[in-house]
Amino acid sequence: MKFLLMGAAATGLALAATVAHADQPATTTAAAPAAKPTYGTYGFDTAGMDASVKPGDDFYEYANGTWLKNTPIPADKSNYGAFTVLDELSQKRTREILDGAKTDPNSKIGVAYATYLDSAAVEAKGLAPIKPWLAEIGAVKDLKAYAALSGKAARAGVRGPFRFYVGQDDKDPETYILSMMQGGLGLPDRDYYLDQSEKMAAIRTAYVAHLEQMLTLLGEPNAKARAAALMAFETEIAKVHWTQVDSRDADKTYNKMTLAALQKAAPGFDFAAYFGAVGLKPTDLLVAQPSAVTGEAALIAKAPIGVLKDSLLLRSVHSYADYLPDNIASADFAFFGTTLSGTPEREERWKRGVTFLKESLGEEVGKVYVAKYFPPETKAAMDQLVKNVLSAMGRRIDGLPWMSDEAKARAHKKLAAFTPKIGYPDRWRDYSGLTITSGDLFGNAMRANQFDFDYNIGKLGKPIYRWEWGMTPMEINAYANFGMVEIVFPAAILQPPFFDPNADPAVNYGGIGAVIGHELSHHFDDQGAKYDETGKLNQWWTDQDVANFKALTAKLGAQYDAYEPFPGAHVKGAFTMGENIGDLGGLAVALDAYHASLGGKAAPVIDGMTGDQRFFLGWAQVWRRNYREANLRQRLVTDPHAPSQYRADIVRNFDAWYDAFKPAPGGKIYLDPKDRVKIW
Ligand SMILES: [Zn+2]
Repeated sequence: MKFLLMGAAATGLALAATVAHADQPATTTAAAPAAKPTYGTYGFDTAGMDASVKPGDDFYEYANGTWLKNTPIPADKSNYGAFTVLDELSQKRTREILDGAKTDPNSKIGVAYATYLDSAAVEAKGLAPIKPWLAEIGAVKDLKAYAALSGKAARAGVRGPFRFYVGQDDKDPETYILSMMQGGLGLPDRDYYLDQSEKMAAIRTAYVAHLEQMLTLLGEPNAKARAAALMAFETEIAKVHWTQVDSRDADKTYNKMTLAALQKAAPGFDFAAYFGAVGLKPTDLLVAQPSAVTGEAALIAKAPIGVLKDSLLLRSVHSYADYLPDNIASADFAFFGTTLSGTPEREERWKRGVTFLKESLGEEVGKVYVAKYFPPETKAAMDQLVKNVLSAMGRRIDGLPWMSDEAKARAHKKLAAFTPKIGYPDRWRDYSGLTITSGDLFGNAMRANQFDFDYNIGKLGKPIYRWEWGMTPMEINAYANFGMVEIVFPAAILQPPFFDPNADPAVNYGGIGAVIGHELSHHFDDQGAKYDETGKLNQWWTDQDVANFKALTAKLGAQYDAYEPFPGAHVKGAFTMGENIGDLGGLAVALDAYHASLGGKAAPVIDGMTGDQRFFLGWAQVWRRNYREANLRQRLVTDPHAPSQYRADIVRNFDAWYDAFKPAPGGKIYLDPKDRVKIW
């Protein structure tokens, strides 16, 4: 399992949203290192603060209030913050690389990009490129054929009734195994179907209208009735789906069974035909949500075949909307971009082209990107920072009052086993098997999906791909992978405001130091801690350790449950638990590492700010972000990360923050010492 630093921009959107206008100074490039930090005089944007807000009322606003007020969200964005500012820089650089390549007929990335940009060719072809695929759906006559085509759809990147992929077996991490999960919904989560609030009801109405519109655009008859029937079917599926909270439980979702046992438990769906269509004959597999799979199979068995076919049809058009004529793409965006995420406008074509290249040929572009934009000094500095954070974590573990000596010894073993990956992979993906054809955008997209799928499925029976990366170097994010016992930091996040070689170390420790700590702490969060030093799902604590840990995490969960960004819409403490533990542990360990880096000397005071003040400001700065309402509402349901302001305000649990800012008791985020949560 992979745990990110930040959630995807918009679940359910075909393309991840990217950035529009720069309103931050351009960051330092490899070619021209500046002596001054990018932000402010010491790495923090003092001008973006709002000194009228008391730190003890809302530290996030205190640190970022003026920036938040003065920074509009670009029309093609669902949210805008420190991550997106860097994302825009990445996008601009990637565009330059692609512009340089696009006139070279021998450059795969160049041809793919030039083909993407040729919107006239896409319009001229109309629906012709997708017609053969739609005809295959049209030809389905029975459940067996439906199951087989659903497998083929998965290979083409179209979401069918279930989802599956090949990954490490949690209880045998040296072995790859097929894993499958619930699926079948067109909206981002079961809550969208079942939540009775007015907001959700309005989205449902808009969704049915959208389905009808798409069927009409495709020239299908009886669009209204068919849209309603599909919605009714998906609503029944939503009822058997597991919640997000249950779906992130590593124990509950580990259910190994033979294909025969799965078929017996879920007789309504032909799993052999489903997997067989893509050449898979699994003997055993992991099923994340068995009761949901059983329930879905039963619903499929009794559904009219037309409804099942419409589901595949509409999911296919959604997945490929961006490679089809503008009337289809715009209609898709109007619902998934605007209604669900609040984004008024689609991105310009070149931005979507950059995203397409990142998704289809990411490491081929990444190779060029790191050679140009990732200085070796940054990698060296990161190596050192990671070492410092790891040793700080070791010292913190020794000092934990709630953990047994036995578990501490195992925790040290786990720390010693960590693989940090920094910047870019040692071994790049080989794309020679992917055919990119000039002028064939739809075909390129489908072949890229199939190529990726085959690459993943091809892992079965092979030794673990330890060199592999789950992100491109251009991404502004980071992740922890439990099975690999690794923490991964793409090149593009190693820039200001996260990391600035010219900034004060306190700000860097509050930024990238806490990001390193966050990913590290994921391996000790409520799920990650279930995995041992070999990456195996295997309890290595005593039962008393587990009980003590649960008491602490319950306190943290209650803190987040209380946050209510919109009346009646709360943050879910249990759903965001892993991320909140990551932030809490990450910030604690980064602060210790910062203190250790001072080598016994007092930190200097800069611009009237102490070292600890600058550390916490550096943390708050990376979280500054404005959201559109629809986007934030969607995140409350689908994003395991709490909204940015609450992530910044986690400082309220730190005694050192109280010492640094001296907030008066009674402030909105003030906590009595007994209510401050300390876990790692
Ligand atoms: Zn995380």
